[in-house]
Formats: sequence, structure tokens, C-alpha cells
Amino acid sequence: MFIFIIRMLKHCFSLFCITFFLGAFTGCAITEPSQSEFVLGTICTITLYEQGKLQVYRDIFRRFREIEDRMSVGPEKTDVARINANAGIGPVKVHEDVFEVIERAVYYAEISEGAFDPTVEPLVSLWGIGGDNARIPLQEEIDAVLPLIGWRNIELDREHCTVYLKRSGMALDLGAIAKGFAADEAVEIVKKARIKRAIIDLGGNILVYGEKKDKSPWKVGIQNPFDSRGAYIGIVQVGEKTVVTSGVYERFFEAEGVRYHHILSPFEGRPARSGLLSVSIVTGQSMDADALSTAVFVLGYERGRALLESLEGVEGIFVLNDMSIRLTGGLDFILTDDNYRIVSD
Ligand code: AMP
Ligand code: MG
Repeated sequence: MFIFIIRMLKHCFSLFCITFFLGAFTGCAITEPSQSEFVLGTICTITLYEQGKLQVYRDIFRRFREIEDRMSVGPEKTDVARINANAGIGPVKVHEDVFEVIERAVYYAEISEGAFDPTVEPLVSLWGIGGDNARIPLQEEIDAVLPLIGWRNIELDREHCTVYLKRSGMALDLGAIAKGFAADEAVEIVKKARIKRAIIDLGGNILVYGEKKDKSPWKVGIQNPFDSRGAYIGIVQVGEKTVVTSGVYERFFEAEGVRYHHILSPFEGRPARSGLLSVSIVTGQSMDADALSTAVFVLGYERGRALLESLEGVEGIFVLNDMSIRLTGGLDFILTDDNYRIVSD
């Protein structure tokens, strides 16, 4: 889906500016210069501390555009578009970046029992959420598309670096995982440039690299699901981690008082109604956090928590429809909005 928005906005929204990043980390006003650009369907803001050379910012944004050019559903030349165009026809050789992300996506599809499913694209297109043509499809339309959704029909050949969608009409959408991959790639560039600390913010998906000068933890705000971007319900204090959120507030449309958001249940073919307003995943790698945030959002609190607890070094902040917040064990979370309450099971 992020692709569609890119296409729409690219012409009118070429944002490349030096900003001062003050808001996203409540409690620690940061006055380091940052750079923002609209890429991967969102505003990406990079903050490099101390040795933040212009060339490093450029390299990071160039890498983001490269990822976008390989992983978007459109235009036709991207690897993902070619895979989709060859569904039911034959395997497509792809760049190793693309192979790596699809392989990881299949892993998360498997461990989430299909709650996360990169073959969700036909449903994403049908609903059009986030685009100009968003609408509630007829049940017959959903029923017609559902048989095309199924990660088990992705055939990967590591040796030849090819991907094949076995059924005609199938299509991949990597919108739930590609930003995470991009954030991890940004960190690789930061490391190579020997920059000691950085914040990678891809539309609210945060990755903090390095240690703060005073050795205190980083403070990452957790978005209020009912407010505009930048309003927080609390702060999670972390070391070198990523904090990635999937929520009802990111992309949605409303019809007759019902909110239809962009995270779809591959089983029902509709926006997932799992009792969550949002879930934030805290872990080491952003690609893992990105896939898991989407998976857990679809699974809901109980099954989602069980999934997180089966994995090493992954924590979650669940915001439920009843405004309660539940946390996995190893988190340092400070609630700042008294409309919400922390509930321990
Ligand atoms: P995120 O914001 O990371 O949760 O990703 C949501 C985006 O991923 C949507 O805009 C769709 O493009 C795609 N998507 C929606 N539902 C799913 C799902 N169940 N599994 C995988 N990708 C999905
Ligand atoms: Mg995601």
C-alpha cells in the first residue's frame, strides 16, 4: 500500500529539509540537526549525532530509495511488480535484498500462522485504504480474492535467488516489513561511517543506535492511537533498540461511523478486529519488529503475547480497545496520559 501513496505524493511532496527534531522523544528535547525525506510511503527522519556528515544522510536516503525501487508493488520495473506480473507463470530472479525480505516475511507468516501474510496485496488493492479509492468492497468481491491469499504458495529458490507465486492473480505487498528492513540498513551505513549515535525514524517506526552521551536510556514516545502524530500516551525507555508500532491510526477511512484501517485479516479479508488499538514491538532488529507488529495486531492480545513470549528478546506494548495497556515483562514504560491505564494480568 505504501507504494500507492508514494506515487500520489511524490510529485507534490518532495521534502528534503534540515529540521530540528524536538518532538518524537518526549522528555529529551533533541537539538541535533536532522534530515527528513518522503520515501517508503512516509516521512523518514534521520538524526545523526556529532559526526553527522551530509554525505551519510545522502547515503541513507539513497539506500531508502533503492529499497523502494526494488520492493514497491508499482511501478512495473520493481522486483516485486515483476514477481506479481509473473504469478502463475514462472519464477523471477530478484535482488538479494528482495529475496532476504521475502524469506523473512515467509518466516513471520509461518510463525504467526498466517496472521502476517505478504500475499495480502489483492485485498490491499480491493480496499484501497490510504488511497483515493478506498471503499468497502462487497462480500462477493472479498470472497473472490480470499483464495489468492496464501503465503504457502510462495516458492523461494535461494540458490537462484528467484521467487515464484504459484497461483495466477496472487501478488506480494511488502508494506508491513520493508520499512523495518530499511531502518536496519540505515544502521549499517551509520556503523560504517563510525557515527556513534543516531535515531532512525520511519514514520514513527523508531530505531535508536548507540548510547546517549550521558549514558541514560533513550526515551521513545508511544503514539496516542486517537491523536494526530506526535501525541503520546507514554514513554518507553530503551537501550539500543527499535520500537515499531502498528495501529488503527496510521491509514484508515471512516464510513457510517466505522473506522476501516489498513491492517487486514488475511482470514476474513477485512480490517483486523482483534481488540487492539495498537501494538508496539521493542527488539533489536527493525525488520523483525515491523513484521511482528503487523502479525501481533492481527492476532490480538492473547495470541500475540504468546507469540512474543515464544521469541527471544522481543517485548510488546499492547493498547487495547478499552484503553487498557498491557506490557510484556522486560519493559521500562512510563504512562503519561491518564485516559489510559496499565493493567497487569
Ligand atoms: P504495518 O503498518 O507495518 O502494520 O503494515 C501495514 C501494511 O502492510 C498495510 O498498509 C498493507 O500494505 C500491508 N498489510 C496489511 N495487512 C497485512 C497482513 N495481515 N500481513 C502482511 N501485510 C499486511
Ligand atoms: Mg509492520
